[in-house]
Amino acid sequence: MKGEVIGRLILGHDLAETDALIRYVSNVWVVALVLIYVMIAVMVYSGYQRNRILSHYAYFDMVSGMPNRRYFAECVAEDLARGEKAPRAVVVANLANFKMLNASYGCQYGERLVQLILAHLSRVCIGRCRLFHLSVDRFAFYVGDYTSREELIGLGGRVLGLLKDELSSQPVGGNVGIVELQGGGYRDPDEILRNAFIAIDQASRQGRFGYCFFDRSMEGAVQREDQIERELRQALADPEQSQVFLVFQPKIDLADDRIVGFEALARLNSEVFGPVSPMEFVEVAEKKMLIVPLSNLILRMAGRFARILEDRGLDGVKVAVNISGLQLLRDDFTDTVLRLVGESGAPASRIELEITESVFLNDYDLVNGRLQRLRENGIEIMLDDFGVGYSSLSRVRDLCIDAVKIDKSFVDRILSEEKERIVIPDIISMCHRLDYKVVAEGVETAEQKDYLLQAGCDVMQGYLYSKPLSQDEALKCLQAGGILHATAPDPA
Ligand code: C2E
Ligand code: MG
Ligand code: MG
Repeated sequence: MKGEVIGRLILGHDLAETDALIRYVSNVWVVALVLIYVMIAVMVYSGYQRNRILSHYAYFDMVSGMPNRRYFAECVAEDLARGEKAPRAVVVANLANFKMLNASYGCQYGERLVQLILAHLSRVCIGRCRLFHLSVDRFAFYVGDYTSREELIGLGGRVLGLLKDELSSQPVGGNVGIVELQGGGYRDPDEILRNAFIAIDQASRQGRFGYCFFDRSMEGAVQREDQIERELRQALADPEQSQVFLVFQPKIDLADDRIVGFEALARLNSEVFGPVSPMEFVEVAEKKMLIVPLSNLILRMAGRFARILEDRGLDGVKVAVNISGLQLLRDDFTDTVLRLVGESGAPASRIELEITESVFLNDYDLVNGRLQRLRENGIEIMLDDFGVGYSSLSRVRDLCIDAVKIDKSFVDRILSEEKERIVIPDIISMCHRLDYKVVAEGVETAEQKDYLLQAGCDVMQGYLYSKPLSQDEALKCLQAGGILHATAPDPA
């Protein structure tokens, strides 16, 4: 002060607040960083989990949890690339008609059945053998290092035994296709599966349960099936130019030899193969999911013929249409039939439907209810092919039907087997007691006719009277009086 130093002035600033602020900010940052890290970790972990689940589902079946087709393909492809020398084979089991089961009982029922079957199959799969769930109704065993074909036959037999046990009461069959990889020059797992499916197809032709080894000669059958499928699709796309048409086989009332109806039988005139049997192309249509549109086309054509009969006043002559089981099990079956018959302009009483007993195995009450509704609308129902497969006399009494058609195989045995002679009159009298008409099909000889006549059969159909006729021939026959007499069939 006034040039004299009297002390020191120290100016201070309290940094406690600043320190606190800095600590606070750093703490917030640390917490935020920790939170960010945790969030990143959670996101990474859940992404990893999602990927893990996704990649699990990419390689394992969602329902059964078994390794799937992709897993199979990668396993086999790896072995093929490695040029594995040990003999290997693929044994594929297929549930035929499984879709029918799902359609009538629902998917859950089907899933439970598949799981049960898989549990059994995994017990069969021992040693150098691995089980895969390829698709809903297909399973594959990849067998490595087997010693002989007998070993594969044994495996196929065990699989079939299991399928038979589980499926015998269902309308589902089971077939096994076996492909040996040794010497097959295989490069692609898909080719192996394709060949296994070809073998399955072959096995299914031989019966409800069977197995078959693939061999190269079978590939022709697949090409044929593809061509038939193509032609059926063409026919459905352009019904006017259709290669699918109907022929009509007369049904004769034995009381007066008068035509009381025609069975409409579908024909395919293939550009490549010529005439193809309905047994073959109906099966292809069922397999390729074309049976519903095809059946509708057939019903429309049969309705048109019935309308002509109606317009010409040809009373008492009905038109029968064969119905596939897959068709009948659809929810819209009854409405569709009634609609198509209505659109044709023919009265419903002109139409008869031929169904086989196997459809009742699915859901007896459901099927019966549908048939009853059709009958209430005037359509008659006939049980076709009686005497084969599932036929049981005790059940027939509860069916909503009007007539029973005894199968040709039964009629054929009339002459050769004594016991059939006894059963046929029993069937006929039982049907009459139930108020069902009885038709015999495939009658070829006068002896069969006389026997059936004596047994009380009402109506006959067979080459003895007439082969299936074109629409014009059928109409001509009716215009000429509609009487057909038994004549020995032309051997051609
Ligand atoms: P199905 O309904 O039992 O028809 C009877 C079959 O026996 C017909 O063969 C008929 O031509 C043949 N047949 C009739 N009388 C005689 C005879 O005296 N001797 C011999 N050897 N055969 C006779 P087709 O037309 O080949 O039909 C075979 C099967 O194809 C039919 O059996 C039926 O299950 C099916 N089918 C035919 N048309 C249709 C159709 O429009 N829809 C469906 N879903 N199936 C059809
Ligand atoms: Mg029939
Ligand atoms: Mg029949």
